[in-house]
Amino acid sequence: MKTCVVIGGGIGGLVTGALLAKEGYQVTVLEKNAIIGGGLQTFKRNGVRFPTGMHIFGGFQEGGNLRKLFDYLGVMDKIKLRPTDEDTNDEVSFVDENVTYRLPKGKDRFVDYLSDCFPDEKEQIKAYVDRLFELTEEEELFYLHEAPENGLSHSDDFLGSVNQLMDKYLTDVKLKSLLGYLSPLIGGPGETTPAYIHALLSTLHINGTYQFVGESQQMADALAQVIENAGGQVVANEKVVRIEVDNRQVTQVVTQKGNTYQADSYISAMHPDVLLKIIDSQAFTTAFKQRVQSVPETMSSFKVFVKLKENTIPYINHPTFCLAHADEWPQSMMYVTPPVENQGIFAQTIVVICPMAFEQVRSWEQTTSGHRGADYLSWKQKMMDKVLDCMSLKYPVFRNSIEFCFAASPLTIRDYYGNKEGSNYGFQKDSNNLMLSQISVATKVKNLFLTGQNVNIHGLCGVSLTAIESAEALVGHNTIVRKINNFCPNHP
Ligand SMILES: Cc1cc2nc3c(=O)[nH]c(=O)nc-3n(C[C@H](O)[C@H](O)[C@H](O)COP(=O)(O)OP(=O)(O)OC[C@H]3O[C@@H](n4cnc5c(N)ncnc54)[C@H](O)[C@@H]3O)c2cc1C
Repeated sequence: MKTCVVIGGGIGGLVTGALLAKEGYQVTVLEKNAIIGGGLQTFKRNGVRFPTGMHIFGGFQEGGNLRKLFDYLGVMDKIKLRPTDEDTNDEVSFVDENVTYRLPKGKDRFVDYLSDCFPDEKEQIKAYVDRLFELTEEEELFYLHEAPENGLSHSDDFLGSVNQLMDKYLTDVKLKSLLGYLSPLIGGPGETTPAYIHALLSTLHINGTYQFVGESQQMADALAQVIENAGGQVVANEKVVRIEVDNRQVTQVVTQKGNTYQADSYISAMHPDVLLKIIDSQAFTTAFKQRVQSVPETMSSFKVFVKLKENTIPYINHPTFCLAHADEWPQSMMYVTPPVENQGIFAQTIVVICPMAFEQVRSWEQTTSGHRGADYLSWKQKMMDKVLDCMSLKYPVFRNSIEFCFAASPLTIRDYYGNKEGSNYGFQKDSNNLMLSQISVATKVKNLFLTGQNVNIHGLCGVSLTAIESAEALVGHNTIVRKINNFCPNHP
């Protein structure tokens, strides 16, 4: 039996591990936190469960890429998902103007809705949305298509920036802002973010999004079960602190507790910058290290978690995006009311996520959780009050509806995920310099491979699809894609 050690028990590590377990590998996943899951983890505060970083995701519609993948892994019947509303997949409010758009699910309805709102741009809207879908076809894995050995060549639109793509098709400024409403979920500016990322994310949303019912943890646990059922193990509280390399081969990893793990192959789901800090210094060239260190990170977030009093704020079956032009933070925010089992008409909790640059917390970057000092706590309270004020504009009764609330800053995100500068989505991609952030799953160290959001695209969909690529680096190009498609022949 071939063996593999996976470092990091988040989505990337668990999906790669589960795929390899199905290929007959004995997989050991090592996770630094007490609970596995990374972005899938849910945590308890005062007995109430909150998600850490998985609120809304696409790909689970009939025939969708993730539905096929997780069907193949045998976890679909172990997780509970709830589709967002057909007529309001995403709600987008322009706060300054008090205008709200309710974007429906499905390409044709999406185009019709926008054409009604912006009749002067009817033809352009259709052409633009058609183009978004065409661009996604240049990413074979998005449709679980077998990939040619050297990949497809890409169009100029695919490689250009989001703004270039929008400017080519659309003129109305408001329409462009509206269609850019997902930019907080991309974490980079429209001038430099490659259009293909916008196309993939927009298409995922247009095709329909989902939320976990109850806990996103169920997905992490179901994936761990696949690994364990195949004879592997998923070990929490096991932080890898050293990766030893000899003659361009990893020989073993060492954990904080002093345990050592050896395997034929190793997969790192950590941020590459973190990997470079703990691997033998000769493993990679100085040029490679400098390149990795120079890639800018995507935006971080300030999150507010609210437990609501009973029967106060209605449950909303879709995310709400609020965009403002004000100079004052927060310029944008997204909130969700995570559904629970037997969800009634009122929400139990609200999670509000506001993009925030790491610079805001730079002065406390050397501190650790629980020891950041009084000035940090008072800053955090001030920021939370600003978010609560924004929510009070949407719901005048908001403050009175709060049973308890608390916040997480970019420092919390950095320390929890073990990433660089608390970035939400890892490396920022730049259409002017795509090579800079392009990291391959294979590395110069022969038996070390990479997975996770920095390799390709972030989010449940991006990371899970990259996991296929990482696992195929060990078992053969297109091997797993072919098996997934053979397993799900009836999916359209
Ligand atoms: C605030 C926020 C909201 C988000 N909302 C969404 C959303 O609604 N939908 C969506 O699709 N995506 C969302 N994302 C993005 C999504 O969570 C990430 O893209 C995804 O979790 C990345 O998966 P990953 O496996 O690369 O990393 P992670 O999920 O971060 O997993 C990496 C794991 O490695 C572990 N690790 C790190 N270092 C070590 C070490 N030395 N030893 C052992 N283990 C280690 C970490 O503890 C972690 O568990 C959100 C992200 C954030 C921050």
